[in-house]
Amino acid sequence: MKIVIVGGVAGGATAAARIRRLDEAAEILIFERTEYISYANCGLPYYIGGVIADPEELTLQTPEKFWNRFRIAVKTRHEVTAIHPERKTVIVKNLKTGEIFEETYDKLLLSPGARPVRPSLPGIDSSRLFTLRTVEDTLAIRRFVELEHPRSAVLAGGGYIGLELAENLRDLGLEVTIVQRPKQLLNPFDPDMAAFIHAKLRSRGIRLLLGHSVEGFSEKENTMEVLLKDAASVSADLVILAIGVAPDSHLAAEAGLKQGIKGSIAVNDRMETSVPDIYAVGDAVEVEHQITGEKTLISLAGPANRQGRIAADNICGGDSRYPGSQGSSIVKLFDMTAASTGINEKTAVQLGIDYDKVILSPQSHASYYPGGKMMTMKILWEKKSLRLLGAQIVGYDGVDKRIDVLAAAMYAGLSAARLKELDLAYAPPYSSAKDPVNMAGFLIESVSAGNIRQFHWNEADALPRDGSVHLLDVRTEPEFASGHLEGFVNIPLDELREHLDQLDPAKPVRAVCQSGLRSYLACRILSQEGFSCSHLSGGYRFYQTVLEDRCAAESAWPCGVDKT
Ligand code: FAD
Repeated sequence: MKIVIVGGVAGGATAAARIRRLDEAAEILIFERTEYISYANCGLPYYIGGVIADPEELTLQTPEKFWNRFRIAVKTRHEVTAIHPERKTVIVKNLKTGEIFEETYDKLLLSPGARPVRPSLPGIDSSRLFTLRTVEDTLAIRRFVELEHPRSAVLAGGGYIGLELAENLRDLGLEVTIVQRPKQLLNPFDPDMAAFIHAKLRSRGIRLLLGHSVEGFSEKENTMEVLLKDAASVSADLVILAIGVAPDSHLAAEAGLKQGIKGSIAVNDRMETSVPDIYAVGDAVEVEHQITGEKTLISLAGPANRQGRIAADNICGGDSRYPGSQGSSIVKLFDMTAASTGINEKTAVQLGIDYDKVILSPQSHASYYPGGKMMTMKILWEKKSLRLLGAQIVGYDGVDKRIDVLAAAMYAGLSAARLKELDLAYAPPYSSAKDPVNMAGFLIESVSAGNIRQFHWNEADALPRDGSVHLLDVRTEPEFASGHLEGFVNIPLDELREHLDQLDPAKPVRAVCQSGLRSYLACRILSQEGFSCSHLSGGYRFYQTVLEDRCAAESAWPCGVDKT
């Protein structure tokens, strides 16, 4: 059997190696357009920033090593320019020599990835403007930084790649501005959770221009003007466009393969395209979202690798199935980590799902052991079924393992309240006897059983201030004095029982504390005394972060946020 693979990186290289493990006799041939195979796309921003110092770390695999280990033939700088399914061949152009030839296949696997979106804006071809996808792109940006010593950079686009580049360029000492059309960075997050991310970037001196569209670029001497719609232009010595990627699927479309959403390649769960003996995987294909059941594009390395393995199994006569994607993802932002899995609240609203949510701020590990850091978790579930819908976490330590536990629970179909049952490893340097995921389960159980009622940050300002509702802040006096919600009265939690006679049980109570824990305890006391009590989910800390973010977005610079 002769297998031809288009694209020799995440999906393609994985599939090739798996095929060899399953079939020692197969003839395997990879065509890769760039100079490199099986390179570490995900490490590219860190080479630009110098965190990864040696470029060879990114390109550990070579065609020679691939041949020696797997007897897989890899042709780099070879572009497949057409597929002829009727005669089971591909047309290939050797980009080094210009030679064009036809190659036969028994099975064809497409893993061509995606291309950075490059709209036809004025000035888009400037030599100071880059996109980042390949090793070559990376080397070009790094060369520019070393030779031209840019002092400022604009990143058009605030997704994962844009933010990783922002961090790396900032660490190199550049003035960095991120321009992003939506009013928030990182779309997998809700705006309230993104507020923490915005605050972190602003605190590191990164300027955020949110809700602004780039309209073009104009080169002036040694700098660029980034032209914005309805706003003053921004000058920068270097511009990187990271506004998203589009499936690199033109070959498949031209060969008549059925297309999926947004120009992707349609595949079934065996990664088979609409044409017999042609498989496709990775960023180029549409997948089913495990939570919504809808077709979606997930441009991430994990899915590409797993799909590559599944396609390989099926090419070799097996029956492996791709169960869909949850879109689990994670990003480092200086010392902060932000991670998400499943769907967010924006999507739940769009889809009309009847959901509920909790926001909590547990410590990464036991507070008595040095170094514990607070994280902020937001978890969504479907009200009726208690099915977990999604989770978002921002914090400093232990975010990665909590998001992975939640992703696994979601995949396994664990009900949200059963998060409290998970038997997770504990010792003080790593966690608490009640792990943050267990804590989320306790809270979800209480909310869904009606033992605790919550209100949310966006409802706080609309609470009546006419005395018809008791507005209680149960933090300590110094905490209250350092900032509180308008109209709230301070009765510290530990004094609440002594002040019950000052409260009218006929009036509902809205309780607030710093993170939501003490207000929850206050509501438990008050509910058992016959009061109707709700508490502010996420507490004053969450409310304040969201409001400060709004203020900062309007003035494009921090409001009350420490810039050091
Ligand atoms: P790719 O890995 O891109 O491979 C496709 C290859 O096909 C390319 O090398 C291309 O040159 C080649 N090709 C295309 N057309 C042809 C043709 N006609 N002929 C020959 N060759 C062709 N994902 C994460 O999960 N976590 C991360 O932290 C992360 N960070 C990233 C950082 C950067 C800077 C980038 C660019 C991506 C990152 N990703 C990350 C995304 C991840 O790299 C991709 O989802 C994954 O590589 C997709 O695999 P693929 O095989 O579909 O495409």
